[in-house]
Amino acid sequence: MPVPRPAPSDTDPDAAFLAEVRAFLAEALTPDLREAGRRTLGVHSDIAACRLWHQRLHRRGWIAPGWPTAHGGTGWTPRQRFLFDRECALNDAPVLFAGGIRSLGPLIIEMGTPLQQARYLPGILSGEDLWAQGFSEPGAGSDLARIATRAERVGDHYRVTGAKIWTTGAHLSNRMFALVRTETAEKPQQGLTFLLIDMPSPGLTVSPIITIDGEHELNSVFFDQVSVPVANRIGEEGQGWAVAKRLMQLARSNNTPSALVRRVYQRARAAALAVPDLEPGLMARLVSAEIELTAFEQTELSLLPAGRLREGDNTSPSALKLIGSELHQRVAELAMEIAGTARGLALAAFHDETGPLADGARATAKHFATRAASIYSGSSETQRNVIFQALRAGIR
Ligand SMILES: Cc1cc2nc3c(=O)[nH]c(=O)nc-3n(C[C@H](O)[C@H](O)[C@H](O)COP(=O)(O)OP(=O)(O)OC[C@H]3O[C@@H](n4cnc5c(N)ncnc54)[C@H](O)[C@@H]3O)c2cc1C
Repeated sequence: MPVPRPAPSDTDPDAAFLAEVRAFLAEALTPDLREAGRRTLGVHSDIAACRLWHQRLHRRGWIAPGWPTAHGGTGWTPRQRFLFDRECALNDAPVLFAGGIRSLGPLIIEMGTPLQQARYLPGILSGEDLWAQGFSEPGAGSDLARIATRAERVGDHYRVTGAKIWTTGAHLSNRMFALVRTETAEKPQQGLTFLLIDMPSPGLTVSPIITIDGEHELNSVFFDQVSVPVANRIGEEGQGWAVAKRLMQLARSNNTPSALVRRVYQRARAAALAVPDLEPGLMARLVSAEIELTAFEQTELSLLPAGRLREGDNTSPSALKLIGSELHQRVAELAMEIAGTARGLALAAFHDETGPLADGARATAKHFATRAASIYSGSSETQRNVIFQALRAGIR
């Protein structure tokens, strides 16, 4: 089914930009890449497709639109960045495994030393380095400051011992940024340190966790005296909480963007239009989803312009994460109900990729995969707590 998209009007200042983006996507997004984009269940597409798409964007100079131009950004306006993401979604581009691009790179630009910038930014831009996030632990999730993984300083190295859990893509990554405890202090937020760790390293092991959608994206990671140079520390020893908070702010502001929701919405819409007598209840929910998604896009556009998402503003990233992840779940559930009602929703059919159950099965798997959206990067309750604290403090 052709993708509905607004034609650029003569008065749109971004008409030429949109035409350039569409021409690039028409050529660079080969059918296999589009198929990988369509099949995406979790937080990124098939890793081979991710790598290929990353390389193509990097070659075109478009891999890091949100970065300052001095470090490889595109110099686009916030609206152009939004339009680019939307076009990628409408054209089923793969969803990148891009914590490096989205959050760690900007953090290193803001808080890293010039040496760290020179060492790490090129690998993030080229896609050679994939980064996993090592924050959560069996005893530290929402209450992240309870981190117990220890880093003991021995000369110019730390020796790290402990365990991380729910680590997305640790099995695919060659590097990890991690929050570790260098000191036991009165307040749990004190004595934490932010480290950049090479993977694999002697003493570091990765063990898979298979999620309800049948996918392997998550892992446990175990550290036994893993040696990490002190030079790989971002910020001061014991000051890692402030660094991690900034990282989370960057991640929450863009890990469930409207473009991600638009991908699922267009599946739901296509399925709905293919049903001759769509149940009125489903029709009404589809209309609500379109309205909510459009409102979310406008919210993003109003919050993301440069300078708005400043350090210390916790509410905007939390609001974007909260709205995005809960809408993502509602739309994925709707897509499943529309696509799957007549086609069988058995879990056994999750991976029926080509047969008559394929659409319903994939929509069902997507619904299960999006259950995680209101947990990762801080649960919805955590985001509400953050926003409430800011309201109580009179910050907004
Ligand atoms: C798909 C997925 C990917 C992930 N990827 C990563 C990753 O790459 N790296 C990483 O470090 N972590 C990752 N996580 C972990 C994620 O950040 C944690 O799961 C999340 O912070 C919640 O922590 P928890 O699982 O320990 O749950 P808990 O903190 O035990 O929470 C359990 C429940 O209690 C609620 N709750 C807890 N405290 C409060 C409170 N004060 N007020 C109200 N409700 C509360 C929570 O909202 C939740 O519903 C991922 C998780 C998922 C599901």
